[in-house]
Amino acid sequence: MRKNIIAGNWKMNKTPQESTQLVEETLQLLAKENIGETIVIFCPPFIALERVAGLVKGKKNIFAAAQNCHWEKSGAYTGEVSAAMIKAAGAAYVIIGHSERRLYFNETNEQLAKKVNAVLAEGLQPIYCCGEPLEVREANKHFELVAQQIKEGLFHLSKDDFSKVVIAYEPVWAIGTGKVASDEQAQEIHAYIRKLITEKYDAATAANTTIQYGGSMKPSNAKGLMSQPDVDGGLIGGAALVAADFVGIIKSA
Ligand code: PEP
Repeated sequence: MRKNIIAGNWKMNKTPQESTQLVEETLQLLAKENIGETIVIFCPPFIALERVAGLVKGKKNIFAAAQNCHWEKSGAYTGEVSAAMIKAAGAAYVIIGHSERRLYFNETNEQLAKKVNAVLAEGLQPIYCCGEPLEVREANKHFELVAQQIKEGLFHLSKDDFSKVVIAYEPVWAIGTGKVASDEQAQEIHAYIRKLITEKYDAATAANTTIQYGGSMKPSNAKGLMSQPDVDGGLIGGAALVAADFVGIIKSA
């Protein structure tokens, strides 16, 4: 059965030294809690990835992730980082297609499909992001857009490969804005994503897929969102930068 996964996406925040501090503080707080089978992931900037992976190495259900990767194995791609390098740094997951990458770096579903392939080829797990901007929701076209993002980015995968994918539904209008989707809005679209997976693969694959919610999740709203039957954890931005808040969310999973 699928697991709840709480991943903290630090974006372009924290130096290597600050990363050590944040992970150590979070681990100290976590040590006092019983978080059951919940998986916790830290997603620092590349420059701190190896260090963070070292800090969580061997800890049950705690992992490091990269925030992006290139689809090629190596070569003349100045400024890029390959999945093989991420694996060598000790990470287990890679965020693919975050809305900030789609928006500011023009990443397309076609490119994201190649990134997903590269991540899986290294034995890592992609956290594939989808979600609609405000104008798309207002036009009531969010189901259509999310379906397109999932189909074009993921549905070329075999059932076996798809079973390693984590999906993060993140309405763009809720990311970093303080405007959170209601519990019902989150449940509605998560159930829809699960239905798409059932139609493409089968009910067992859909039931085993972790679908996180992301967008202004905080300790105060985490419980309501994550108690929805199809919401399996969260991808957390701002609140992951404060150890007590991140742990507060993890405890709600
Ligand atoms: C994110 O960056 O994925 C995110 C959900 O950010 P925030 O929690 O700050 O809205």
